[in-house]
Amino acid sequence: MRATLHDRIVVVGGGPIGLAMTLALANAETGLRGGNVSLVERQTLALERLPSLLDHRVYALSPGSKTLLESLGVWSHLLSARIEPVRAMHVFGDALQTSKQVNDCNNERSKIEFSEGMPLAFMVEHSALMRALIEQLREQAGTTGNIHMFDNADISGVEFAKAGGAHQLRLKAGPTLAADLLIAADGASSPLRAQAGIVAETKDYESDGIVANFRIEQPHGGIARQWFAHDGVLAYLPLPDNQVSIVWSVSKTRADELSALDDQAFTRAVMQAGDHVFPGMVLASPRARFALRRVMATQWVQPGFALIGDAAHAIHPLAGQGANLGFADVRKLQDEMQNRSVLSHAGDLAVLRRYERARVEDAVIMSYVTDGLRALYLSESQAVTRMRRDGLKAANEMDFAKSLVMAHAMR
Ligand SMILES: Cc1cc2nc3c(=O)[nH]c(=O)nc-3n(C[C@H](O)[C@H](O)[C@H](O)COP(=O)(O)OP(=O)(O)OC[C@H]3O[C@@H](n4cnc5c(N)ncnc54)[C@H](O)[C@@H]3O)c2cc1C
Repeated sequence: MRATLHDRIVVVGGGPIGLAMTLALANAETGLRGGNVSLVERQTLALERLPSLLDHRVYALSPGSKTLLESLGVWSHLLSARIEPVRAMHVFGDALQTSKQVNDCNNERSKIEFSEGMPLAFMVEHSALMRALIEQLREQAGTTGNIHMFDNADISGVEFAKAGGAHQLRLKAGPTLAADLLIAADGASSPLRAQAGIVAETKDYESDGIVANFRIEQPHGGIARQWFAHDGVLAYLPLPDNQVSIVWSVSKTRADELSALDDQAFTRAVMQAGDHVFPGMVLASPRARFALRRVMATQWVQPGFALIGDAAHAIHPLAGQGANLGFADVRKLQDEMQNRSVLSHAGDLAVLRRYERARVEDAVIMSYVTDGLRALYLSESQAVTRMRRDGLKAANEMDFAKSLVMAHAMR
């Protein structure tokens, strides 16, 4: 590929990761060398007013993701009243089958607690995050002039340059975009990844994630709570306005059963699975359901082409790390673009390989750790059940193990 003084970068996919990547590359210091970044998204990127009802799709953003969003000027667009810091996390394993424990969330035998001086994560609504990203993107596009946004855009074809030259991305109702570097941020099903001939290993978990928000009576104390049971994993994540967001990963059959329940019966099921830690929960949002699968691209880069976010790796939501992994990709690719030699161009394979090497390990480890945890908790064997109870108790007493987990979660 020819070296150009003016890098032309095209990002396909305006989800949270593609938007952050566009901003990161368009920053003056990223070494674009007078070039520009185009963002292509098939949906509308509108600046809608935030509804008063909290979004039922939320992210637990790590301090590392927050730092990135601050550096991109995005964080300041978020309303602080709509952000909830997570100050501690309590993880519950199998409960002992005694009547006392039905209402006893302090069951020490099956609980592990994580806490730090500073917040472990920040709960942010998907719609609020998207709004903040779009707002900053519009501001920055207005001042720097090096961002071109194409939303409601259909891609009619892509030609990958064989040797040298730029990739060509044809838009149905728009220009053909030449890209020295084409970045696929088009989600777990990534059409662009398939067009580049990159295979993704996919594992269908044959389970669904159910999400909804609930109003509670007592304060949640900024504590994220997670219950691992043999029929699924349930999380209560703290939200502003004395609400919790639940993410419940269950088998398809169980998800069908839960979906068939009316709101009152569904609420009772959620309260029971959460050991009645909050009596009197009231559903405060629609319920949504997502199919869960693991997707791992076998290759993340090609000359002039890179995968980021869910297009490269989609993992089980039980660790709540999907978006955080994507923001870490953005950080790393931004670093590599900034620090590349003056002789290399934006699509230089050696530069892209450094990004891939640095990120792939993190994503694979996170994906297998969540898989392992899931397998451990789905087992009904008595020995494994005992191990879950006693193992969790032992883990809770091991400061070293806890700080390792924390160090990873907080990056
Ligand atoms: C139930 C559930 C709970 C989760 N909870 C958390 C959590 O607590 N914390 C966390 O960090 N992560 C969580 N995740 C994961 C998180 O949602 C994803 O990791 C994140 O959305 C990935 O962002 P992305 O921008 O890579 O992809 P996406 O959000 O999928 O965005 C892809 C974008 O590409 C666009 N696109 C696709 N094809 C084209 C095309 N041909 N042309 C143009 N545009 C295209 C789409 O319209 C979309 O806007 C959760 C996921 C699930 C399912």
